Amino acid sequence: MNFQIAIDGPSGAGKSTVAKALAKRLGIIYVDTGALYRAVGLFVRSRNVDPHDAAAVAALLPEIALELRYENGSQQVYLNGEATGDRIRTPEMSMYASAVSAIPAVRAFLLDTQRDIAAKNGVVMDGRDIGTVILPNADVKIYLTASDECRAKRRFLELREKGMETTYEDVLADMRRRDHNDSTRTVAPAVAAPDAVTVDSSGMSVEECVARIGKIVAEKLGNRSK
Ligand code: C5P
Repeated sequence: MNFQIAIDGPSGAGKSTVAKALAKRLGIIYVDTGALYRAVGLFVRSRNVDPHDAAAVAALLPEIALELRYENGSQQVYLNGEATGDRIRTPEMSMYASAVSAIPAVRAFLLDTQRDIAAKNGVVMDGRDIGTVILPNADVKIYLTASDECRAKRRFLELREKGMETTYEDVLADMRRRDHNDSTRTVAPAVAAPDAVTVDSSGMSVEECVARIGKIVAEKLGNRSK
């Protein structure tokens, strides 16, 4: 079935882990929309353009072609024909993504890519505005959150595992800055959709979180998920 499941919330709340597990269980694809904003950030950085300069960033958009491909079950973003890989996963690219994501032209540019993929496939899509803007008629909407400290700890461990040098304090400060940018921007601010179910994952293990959300999704989809 072509289900649409929207999982929104701040970074480090566990969205991608939960979304991947649900997609696998339901046999549909997982779409990480943050990767698209990160890829735009990567291109902007490669041109030495200030990511806060809306006019300069908008002028670069016609030079950007993004494609989502699924390789061995995981999403890969291709930027002008080249795989972006871990280059979009650095703390610097998190800040670039957050800056460019506040520019209305960037959001408009990425809208069709996101809607097209959901029109052709069943999706579990994670991001900040999936339930509010991208898929307002999604079958299930979850807003996944957790305390700042808990999210920063998870993100710090994730970055360290990837071999990136950073400290917990830097990760926490970056995260708070990004949360503030994301939730106060004028276009598509990161907020829960009125019909989303909010889950706070603070103190929950990955398994508990997947189980809790899996139950909510199963209840909402009813017999359709069988
Ligand atoms: O989810 P991730 O941390 O990879 O997202 C990077 C940034 O992209 C976020 O901080 C946010 O500014 C932006 N974003 C967004 N809307 C989405 C997904 C991500 O604005 N749907």
